[in-house]
Parts: sequence; structure tokens; C-alpha cells
Amino acid sequence: MAEKSIDIKGLTKKYGEHIAVDNLNLTIEKGEIFGLLGPNGAGKSTTILMILGLTEVDSGSVKVCGIDSSRYPLEVKRKVGYLPEDVGFYNDYTGLQNLMYVARLNDIPEEEAKKAALEILQEVGLEDVKDNKVSSYSRGMRQRLGLADVLIKNPEVIILDEPTLGLDPEGVKKFLQLIVRLSRKKGITVLFSSHHLHQIQQVCDRVGIFVKGKMLAEGKISSLAQQLFSKNAFTLEGGIATLTEDVEPPLPLKEMVQKMKAIPEVAHVELVDNGFVVESHRDVSAYLSRLIVKSGYGLNFLSKREYGLDDIYYQYFQEDKNR
Ligand code: ADP
Ligand code: MG
Repeated sequence: MAEKSIDIKGLTKKYGEHIAVDNLNLTIEKGEIFGLLGPNGAGKSTTILMILGLTEVDSGSVKVCGIDSSRYPLEVKRKVGYLPEDVGFYNDYTGLQNLMYVARLNDIPEEEAKKAALEILQEVGLEDVKDNKVSSYSRGMRQRLGLADVLIKNPEVIILDEPTLGLDPEGVKKFLQLIVRLSRKKGITVLFSSHHLHQIQQVCDRVGIFVKGKMLAEGKISSLAQQLFSKNAFTLEGGIATLTEDVEPPLPLKEMVQKMKAIPEVAHVELVDNGFVVESHRDVSAYLSRLIVKSGYGLNFLSKREYGLDDIYYQYFQEDKNR
């Protein structure tokens, strides 16, 4: 069985009457890149703080690399590199000095720290600016320095809370690619949170859609829409034609509709002008096209609308819908 890096069971956190995280179950395997996706206020940061043992849990448990976060937060801290939403640096220090400062805080011997720092600065693409003051760094450079801070501890798990905030699209892409490269190279488990559905999905092995403290769906992006819109994951529209030169009359439309409805996992069938709309739980286009032709009609077109990320976005992520 794969090794679990993060194992969350029945995790719940309340702020007064408000339930910020509601009975969350989640397992993240070693080396996996997981995206925790949810709109603002979903409870992502609260979840992360509980994973790190930085905030009290009301009920449930969190284990990181097998260690209970609420009981042994210091041990967990040794295993996990955490990049919070707002990273603070000493602006009058250079990038290298900032990184060396973090290394000292983590009791890394000076010589070893220097070597590691230079190597990591190169890895995150800050080699050329390592001796410039951090006050001159762009947002993207600061994020990469934050990642360097995280990496110098040589963590088994990296947790990044909204790491792409304030980056331009190109910066987002580069930053995410950097994380993926490092994770794959070093076998590091990565958890990131974001309210940007479209950015994060490009790089994650799995994502979870987290809304109002609850995990609504979890898995590969391609399976999410089916989980969330399971009643009618597919909408198929087709155009049919009666071919006048045919000798045999086609099956009456009503009867064909009955046959369409009888196809397993078809939820709804509607006739429209010169065609039909079918909603189904799975892709039944092959069955539909065969049925139409067998019933004596011609198929003008068959188009498939699959529910996807945009639908998830409109349903759950538009800010005003969740307020
Ligand atoms: P996210 O990171 O997904 O935006 P948070 O975890 O920050 O969400 O917040 C989840 C909910 O808990 C929000 O409704 C927020 O207002 C509330 N919350 C977060 N932190 C506190 C706190 N320290 N005290 C009271 N309420 C809080
Ligand atoms: Mg947050």
C-alpha cells in the first residue's frame, strides 16, 4: 500500500457557532501533488493550520508522516515546509542572507547551510539576484524565495497556502512548474490551496473541491465534474433527418424516444426541432447513433457537452454565490 503523507479523519473546527471545517476526511500519498481548491472563506487556511498543529482541533485527527499534529506539532514542523499566504522577509537583507537566517533558525550547520542555500537559490531561479536586497524583489521573486525558505529544511511535505496570489499568469505558470519539478525530483509531497480553480488543476495529481468547510468532490480533475454533476454529467444533442428516398418508413419518433430512455444511465430525453437532447450519467453517444440509424433515420450531427471545470467554477467558485 502507498505510504500516507497526510491522513485526515473527521476533522472539525468551529469558531463559535461557525463551522469552518466540517468532518473532513482526506488522505494524501507520499510524493503526490494535491490541490485544495475552494472559494474564499471555504476553510482552506484553517485546515492547513490544523495539519501543521498550529491551531486547535475540535474533533477528528490529523497525521503527517504518521505523526499526530495536535500532539506532536514540533515533530510535524520538522517534516513539513509551510509557505503561508503572506511570507515575511527582512527587506534589508539579501535573498541569500534571508535564506541563511532561516537555515540558522532550523539549526542547520553553517557550512552545510551555505552550500544548500546556493544550490536552492539556483533551483528556484534566484541565483542572479541572490546578493540583492529583498526590498528590490518582485512578488514572483519573493514567492520563489519563500519556496527556497521551505526547501532549505529538506522537508518531506510542502504546504503552500494560496501561493499564486498576486502573480501574473506567466509567473503563476512558472511557479507551479517549479514546484512540480522539485516535487518529482525529490519525492516531496505537496499540498496547495487556491481559489483559482483553473490555475491549479494544470499541475495537480488530484484535487479536492472544498466549499463551506466540506469536501464536495475529490479525485482527478476529469472525474470531478461527474461526481458533482452525477445526475447529468453529459448532455448530448443530435439532429436527425428522414431520408425521403428510403422505402421503409422509419420508426415513429415516440417509439425511438422510448428506446433512447431504455439505454442504461440515460436520465432524460427531449425531442426538439429536427432532433433531440439527451442527458445521461455517462457518454452514450455510440449507443444513440446506432439506435438512430437502426430506427431508419439519418444522423445530421451528434454533439456532446461534457460538464467540466467551467461548470464547477460557475456553480461553486463565483464569489457572490457563496456569500
Ligand atoms: P479560506 O482560507 O478558505 O479562505 P479560512 O480557513 O481562512 O478560509 O476561513 C474559514 C472560515 O472561518 C471563514 O468564514 C472565516 O471567516 C472563519 N475564520 C477563519 N479564521 C478565524 C478566526 N481566527 N476566528 C474566527 N473566524 C475565523
Ligand atoms: Mg486562506
